[in-house]
Amino acid sequence: MTIDVGSAVVQIGRGPTGTALARQLLPAMPPGSRYVVIDRDPAAHQLPFGSPEPTHLINTRAAKSSLNLGDPDEYARWVTEQAAAAGESVTEFPARYWFGRYVRDMFDQAVKEATAAGVTVDVVTDEVVGVRPGRDRRWRVECASGQVFDTHRVVLGIGMLPQADPYPGIAGAAGYFTDPWQLPQLPAEARVAVLGTRLTAVDTALTLAARGHTGPVLLASRSGRLPRLRGPETTAPTPHIEACMGRAAAAGSLRLTDFGRALMADIEAASAQPPDWTEVRDGGPTTRDHLAHELAEVEAGIERGWQQIVNGASPTLLPAWQLLVEPDRAEFFEKWLTPLLVHGAPIPAETARRLVSAMDAGQLRVRDGLHNVRHTGDGFAVHLGDTTEFADVVINATGAGTDAAALRTQPMLAGLLDAGLLDAHPLGGVRVHVPTFEALDRTGTPVPGLHILGDLIRGAVLVTNDVIALSFQAVLLATALRTNDDEGVRPS
Ligand SMILES: Cc1cc2nc3c(=O)[nH]c(=O)nc-3n(C[C@H](O)[C@H](O)[C@H](O)COP(=O)(O)OP(=O)(O)OC[C@H]3O[C@@H](n4cnc5c(N)ncnc54)[C@H](O)[C@@H]3O)c2cc1C
Repeated sequence: MTIDVGSAVVQIGRGPTGTALARQLLPAMPPGSRYVVIDRDPAAHQLPFGSPEPTHLINTRAAKSSLNLGDPDEYARWVTEQAAAAGESVTEFPARYWFGRYVRDMFDQAVKEATAAGVTVDVVTDEVVGVRPGRDRRWRVECASGQVFDTHRVVLGIGMLPQADPYPGIAGAAGYFTDPWQLPQLPAEARVAVLGTRLTAVDTALTLAARGHTGPVLLASRSGRLPRLRGPETTAPTPHIEACMGRAAAAGSLRLTDFGRALMADIEAASAQPPDWTEVRDGGPTTRDHLAHELAEVEAGIERGWQQIVNGASPTLLPAWQLLVEPDRAEFFEKWLTPLLVHGAPIPAETARRLVSAMDAGQLRVRDGLHNVRHTGDGFAVHLGDTTEFADVVINATGAGTDAAALRTQPMLAGLLDAGLLDAHPLGGVRVHVPTFEALDRTGTPVPGLHILGDLIRGAVLVTNDVIALSFQAVLLATALRTNDDEGVRPS
């Protein structure tokens, strides 16, 4: 059945990004207009905020997690009220499922208010399997159920793509699990190797601990670096970065060395002792002592200059990334992406405390140098540098896929790539025209009426892993959509 939704926007995905966008657009729509939101499973347990595990905490403070940039305390207020009504108390880092509930509540409220104001909102539970050009510059949004929506504007906010298999030779082997969010009950004494040392891997270690797993757990990656810890939210002045950005804006381009020097100068000015820059970039695996030392620092409320600058400079990253010259973006990904993720996506002290206690119990270890995993018939050989460890179970917790193969796991994206209407970004995801978030086709031309937000545009915007950055993207797109006519959103 084809449904002509006239000039309605069809939004695919109602996670944090889609919800932030709907909350921007719906209140401004005139009575009689229409909006369609399609999601295959908005409460999905495979998503970070769908996890029912109480030890999976939000990594950004509640006070910094509002989906509404105009009301920064919205989430903190909401979770305090909801938890009190449920007879629970929450810390400043509540269990992540609370945030999932908040997203759904904010979405439902936005739909209710829009409906009361005379807007028709279709909330559809279905999987989108195809987005194809239709007649007269319109789009056909095809769902798995057979429903087709005919519209002039589509927004994709479909979140993270499935993880890639880093060692395809073990795919399908008994004991290899590709989805850390849907782990079956494992034999309690099994030797487990978790591939990855970032947020998803940390969650996996916490899941095993919460289930009473008694066997050894190894977190392994190339760098072996766990996320740093989130300390206070204070900021320090960033005069060097501001001056550097002023010069870059005037010149219309930015060099990585200039931004790097400015960042280092601001961090050094904010730090009691100058940081060891080799350690920041190439520091080895996180040891128990590193983690325990940092935990003690954070518990004592000690300010770390690097974090004050990261806190203060984070809004600069989007404009800096847009001004950075292309070769320098590739160099950044090669040399600085791991340090950015280690320092820029930190974990709460409570999570670190659980990790330290599992390390003290001799159960959890973190190793670097991961370069191969082989199936040995009755288990797995995990190759780390020139040593090998053996595991009964291997769990892939390397995080979202972003390369062209990962894009093709979504039939809708595969179709758009084949049609040349999407182009894989060399640094991950797909290419977009950032001011309007319109897809760029194979020739680099904006595709009218096809917009993309969130993790799928990581290469184009760099930061897609926190709700503030995603809400900001939603505000930028909503502004572009509201200020332009029906034919397109690019300035003429
Ligand atoms: C382990 C981990 C912990 C994290 N912790 C935090 C944190 O504490 N704070 C923070 O700010 N960020 C955190 N993040 C980042 C977080 O994932 C993102 O901020 C956020 O979930 C992304 O929201 P989204 O709406 O873009 O995507 P998603 O939440 O993935 O939502 C996308 C939606 O699209 C739907 N969808 C996908 N494909 C289709 C299709 N074909 N048809 C129909 N529907 C479809 C999905 O069902 C889903 O509901 C964390 C990430 C990880 C991996």
